[in-house]
Amino acid sequence: MQTNQETKLLMLGTGGAFSVKYNNNNALFTHGSFTLLVDCGVTAIRALHQLEVPLTSIDAVFITHQHADHVGGLEEFAFQMNGRYKQKPRLIVPAALQDSLWEHTLKGGLDNPHSGMTKLSDYFEVTAVAEDTPAELAPGFTIRLLPTVHVVGKPSFALLINESIYYSSDCTFDRERLIRLHEQGVRHILHECQLTGTPAVHTTLDQLLSLPEDVQHKIQLMHYGDDMEAYKGKTGGMSFIEQHRTYRYPAL
Ligand SMILES: [Zn+2]
Ligand SMILES: [Zn+2]
Repeated sequence: MQTNQETKLLMLGTGGAFSVKYNNNNALFTHGSFTLLVDCGVTAIRALHQLEVPLTSIDAVFITHQHADHVGGLEEFAFQMNGRYKQKPRLIVPAALQDSLWEHTLKGGLDNPHSGMTKLSDYFEVTAVAEDTPAELAPGFTIRLLPTVHVVGKPSFALLINESIYYSSDCTFDRERLIRLHEQGVRHILHECQLTGTPAVHTTLDQLLSLPEDVQHKIQLMHYGDDMEAYKGKTGGMSFIEQHRTYRYPAL
């Protein structure tokens, strides 16, 4: 897809689920004047405050799956936007997650029959997106959801932005997909990375190191543990993406 503007990425955090050194792995993509927050974990609101990014500058929030490091800040985001700023934020949610996000994550805190706020669409302008169907969120900014295997039985999704930037979120290793994306011309791959141990619900560094060199060169590692510094220089052709730095991905 042709776009005439670069896409900027600012990671609010790059830590794995149990990191205490890095914030939750949440991402702020900006394309032109459009800003998309990908996942809103426990640390997201504080990270936005530290980065001096106002909540009201976020045009939409996208949720990849229902672990707390990806959705734990959504309740506060909803309360602040609706109560403090009197705005109903836009929520982009995979269709497979829409009901569960309310019933199993948000309802306990947000459900309020006394004020008539009893469903997801009372707090958010909800757009449900089907998998593998391109959705243009703003002019020149299109996402396509690709289902991943993370925890078996729990839906989770990767994001392909403008057919050019792949954002894995949390997933087990899918070698064939990564090679296929590379062959299809995807230029940047943001991939989660478990630095040590055996693979279970995440992708290990060793698995990623088994990829061909030209695929590795496209990969920036995220969702890593607190011992990341010890692995610098040991990641083949891949590099670590760092939180609170702005990365620029030129237009095609
Ligand atoms: Zn996670
Ligand atoms: Zn997860």
